[in-house]
Amino acid sequence: MGRILIGIDLGGTNIKGAALRADGRVVRRAKIPTENERGGAPAVLKRMSELAIRIADEAGAGKRDVLAIGVGAPGPLNSRTGVIVETPNLKWKNVHVAREMRRMTGLPVFLENDAIAAAYGEYWKGAGRGAGCMFILTLGTGVGGGIILNGEPLKGIDDTASHLGHIPVELEGRLCSCGSVGCLEAYASATGIVARTLDRLAAGGHPDSPLRQIPSDRLTAADVSAAAKAGCPLARSVIEETGAILGVAIAGLANALNPEICVIGGGVSAMGRMLFGPIRRTVRARALRIPARRIRIVPAALGDDMGCVGAAGLALLRLRKGGD
Ligand SMILES: [Zn+2]
Repeated sequence: MGRILIGIDLGGTNIKGAALRADGRVVRRAKIPTENERGGAPAVLKRMSELAIRIADEAGAGKRDVLAIGVGAPGPLNSRTGVIVETPNLKWKNVHVAREMRRMTGLPVFLENDAIAAAYGEYWKGAGRGAGCMFILTLGTGVGGGIILNGEPLKGIDDTASHLGHIPVELEGRLCSCGSVGCLEAYASATGIVARTLDRLAAGGHPDSPLRQIPSDRLTAADVSAAAKAGCPLARSVIEETGAILGVAIAGLANALNPEICVIGGGVSAMGRMLFGPIRRTVRARALRIPARRIRIVPAALGDDMGCVGAAGLALLRLRKGGD
């Protein structure tokens, strides 16, 4: 067995892990429940460390064959110091992820923002492979974002760059999870899609919509997508509007960055052409001519592996740059 990397993707519900060869090929994967309620941060860090060692073992690698462990986690976090400053969904504060996991595993550990890890995964091994400039939008409960420029994530001066979900798309508008109003996330996340659908249902009309059969507290973005695919005009117009709103934000990013590729990932992106059609049309109509022609807007390619592959790839990048 040659030398391998371990990528860990820490989510609110599950912890995913993968062993990769140094060329990025995944050779082993595993998933365990996060169970943050069982012991909080110290217990979760221990489970992540044990998972990393177990996957390496299952991949046929001894500890000395492991180059590094990369961990992608929700933030805000400091990737340089390896500290999660605060995660609202896990209720962690100032958790020294890299230091503690290094102590428990005896291996180099690097912490990164999960959305930036996703972006790097798609750049390294997925739909954005080899692009000089690319960015990702991951549409889930929130809208994650990451920009990769000349092979490196764009982090900004305070490690807060690439929060593309909080690009404003309305002067006033819907309240966002960040406390501001009118952010992309408030419209194009699964939560935003459900909220906009409920508003339309409350406004009346569309008596035959299958969405009227679903109790409002149980409605999901997947229901809206299924109804749209089945031809429900209300659901279709919500999805089209979602595409147009994403298109406005992407047009702005295209003008700012002149990227080659925009990758759309996450559950909501499975809506396919129904979503990508209005996104592409809006970008063509709203971005400057040259960046609008240049940018390719494509679905993510790595699926569930995205976060682990990216976290491992960034760990390798940092090892090569001389991180410890
Ligand atoms: Zn926001």
